[in-house]
Amino acid sequence: MSTNALLPPRPAIHDSALSLIGGTPLVRLDRIAREEGLECNLLAKVEGFSAGGSVKDRIAKRMVEEAERAGVLIPGHSILVEPTSGNTGIGLALVAALKGYRCIIVMPEKMSTEKQNTLKALGAEIYRTPTEAAWDSPDSHISLAKRIVATTPGAVMLDQYNNVNNPDAHYYTTAPEILDSLAAVPSTEARPSSQTVDVIVAGTGTGGTLSGLAKRLREANPQLVSVGVDPVGSILARPESLNEMKDGDSPIYKVEGTGYDFVPAVLSHPDINHWMKTRDAESFAMCKRLIRSEGLLVGGSSGASVAAAVAWLKSDEGRQVAGGVKGKNVVVVLADSLRNYITSDWLNEDSTPVHHLASLSLDQKN
Ligand code: PMP
Repeated sequence: MSTNALLPPRPAIHDSALSLIGGTPLVRLDRIAREEGLECNLLAKVEGFSAGGSVKDRIAKRMVEEAERAGVLIPGHSILVEPTSGNTGIGLALVAALKGYRCIIVMPEKMSTEKQNTLKALGAEIYRTPTEAAWDSPDSHISLAKRIVATTPGAVMLDQYNNVNNPDAHYYTTAPEILDSLAAVPSTEARPSSQTVDVIVAGTGTGGTLSGLAKRLREANPQLVSVGVDPVGSILARPESLNEMKDGDSPIYKVEGTGYDFVPAVLSHPDINHWMKTRDAESFAMCKRLIRSEGLLVGGSSGASVAAAVAWLKSDEGRQVAGGVKGKNVVVVLADSLRNYITSDWLNEDSTPVHHLASLSLDQKN
């Protein structure tokens, strides 16, 4: 382990699950890299290992603790209210459970039953809004959360779309963790490494993850290339022409947690060099490859991010920058875990069959 680590080592005994937020592993995607003919080190930051199961635990913890420090949140009095695609909600509900806050989560209907059940288990109160409601319509999850805050004494919306502690959580924790991991592993002939991040790839919802990561990782390596991943049907990518729909494209996508119909203030476009648009089919197909060939139990947006990373690394520019270069480190954020999607159609439609004793042939039964 490098003696110049940016972060302190993890404690041998954790004081609570709060300290199990973040501290996630960096894992080589060697099988996918080999199958795709990539020469670089393809690495995954596997955020599903965080206490609440996603990258958003980090912002929940930081937004709450900074609001407490600023006197905006008063323990035992304040009520947390947040619009979310679910993972920020789970992070907030976990932090709220540990710190004793009441927590109200507002989430579009599209989001999985598994997320709802996890929120319920953590004791959060849940409101669901129509998926198709535009962000600024009265029916949206954002508008309803604002109305709940306006009518609930003690309610506070930490507002992940506008809160600097969203990108800052990644600037101060996710990025230094990655840099520490890379610095701790020496470059060898068998495993060459630049020991810094050359390319960072992440899905964008609020954009906080990629914006905070790109800012900090670029301070460590000014040549950093950052790649944003945005589903077809969303408008976050730049140039805006990328967001134009082609014949046969649907504005509806099933992948959860990425894409929006407005640009959140925490999404810093100047920090993002390239954008890739992804479709559900390629995202879910790559998610299944991550599960079956790498053994990583991740969610659909992780599949989108790896599919986009591979496509960019195989493009002319991507191959030159990293895809065809030994020792370059490409880090892809795998934002959440399969726990959120266990009963989803896309996971189960072509999964392996289950054999029930009653329907086995006679010689298998005996
Ligand atoms: N993937 C998933 C599954 C998510 O829940 C989120 C957060 N909405 C993201 C990716 C994108 O993270 P961010 O909001 O930081 O852009």
